[in-house]
Amino acid sequence: MPESRHVVIIGSGPAGLTAAIYTARANLSPLVIEGEPSSTTDQPGGQLMLTTEVENFPGFIDGIQGPELMGSFRAQAARFGAEFLTEKVSRVDFSHRPFDLWVGDPHAPEPTYTADAVIVSTGARSIMIGLEAESRLLGYGLSTCATCDGFFFRNRQIAVVGGGDSAMEEALFLTKFADKVTVVHRRDELRASKIMQERAFKNDKIEFLWDTEVVDLIGEQRLEGAHVRNVKTGELSALDVTGMFVAIGHRPNTDLFRGILDMEESGYLITTPGGTATNIPGVFACGDVQDHTYRQAITAAGSGCMAAIDAERWLEVNHAVPPEFTDTPTSW
Ligand code: NAP
Repeated sequence: MPESRHVVIIGSGPAGLTAAIYTARANLSPLVIEGEPSSTTDQPGGQLMLTTEVENFPGFIDGIQGPELMGSFRAQAARFGAEFLTEKVSRVDFSHRPFDLWVGDPHAPEPTYTADAVIVSTGARSIMIGLEAESRLLGYGLSTCATCDGFFFRNRQIAVVGGGDSAMEEALFLTKFADKVTVVHRRDELRASKIMQERAFKNDKIEFLWDTEVVDLIGEQRLEGAHVRNVKTGELSALDVTGMFVAIGHRPNTDLFRGILDMEESGYLITTPGGTATNIPGVFACGDVQDHTYRQAITAAGSGCMAAIDAERWLEVNHAVPPEFTDTPTSW
């Protein structure tokens, strides 16, 4: 028998955990299906688990480490009764209410959970360059997370690919460990904010390789270098590095909802302007999975709060079972 829940939250970044705090405080006993440890982190919790210093989350004068911030979000949600399942949702069926969600075998005849309302906060993930060698060398000199792996690159020459804020952040962080950090960017100007550009330009350990793309990675067991090409002259050369960090953006984690929830071509979920409702009444989306504009922890948290309030109001209007009668079968 599936376990029936009022609210299931899929994902445990700042959006999902803020939605958990709010729905828990509204007595909706949320279940957070928080995802699984990834290859780069031993805990779920979204992209902030892969971040070092967060300086722009309001309330922390001296900044806070990403994982510590997420740990606090989670503990706060748990304090109000949110429950956590450290697994991934493998399938959803939103064609009827209550909604069906599977964890584990997606072909199992019965869903694992039913939910009166669902909040989708599955976030986004790192985009890779698209080289065959990337899968072989990821974790062996190739990384998408300076926070996780920077320590292993002491006194080494390393490259960061990308020209946005993420690339500058990674490059600056890596100068704490590496002898030299070469930023490889495909154009001759950065996309990063002025303040991040200035910090990177001022740092003598950072060099820039402009108009350049990485065409191949060298090394079988470990990264031993890269072949790069100047996109203007076509000239090929070898880059002598033993570490490389890819920081070229992110893709929303929405495969699970393809053909079910409306999404843009890029995969970002479409929500009502100024709100969090998706095309399916009772399913709400918040955080990076539906935001390609701001993509900040604070905006994700803000939209998580909105999704919780939207879900709570929707449940009230749709006569969902009052939280104090959780044993009563749901009727619509
Ligand atoms: P982004 O702003 O989209 O930048 C991606 C960079 O990677 C761009 O420079 C892009 O080049 C390059 N790129 C994309 N695909 C590539 C490919 N296949 N090969 C080589 N290069 C490629 O992504 P982001 O830096 O991850 O930042 C995302 C958002 O988060 C931004 O809004 C950013 O401001 C924000 N953010 C803020 C902070 C902070 O404030 N501390 C930190 C991180 C992120 P082009 O420039 O040529 O397109």
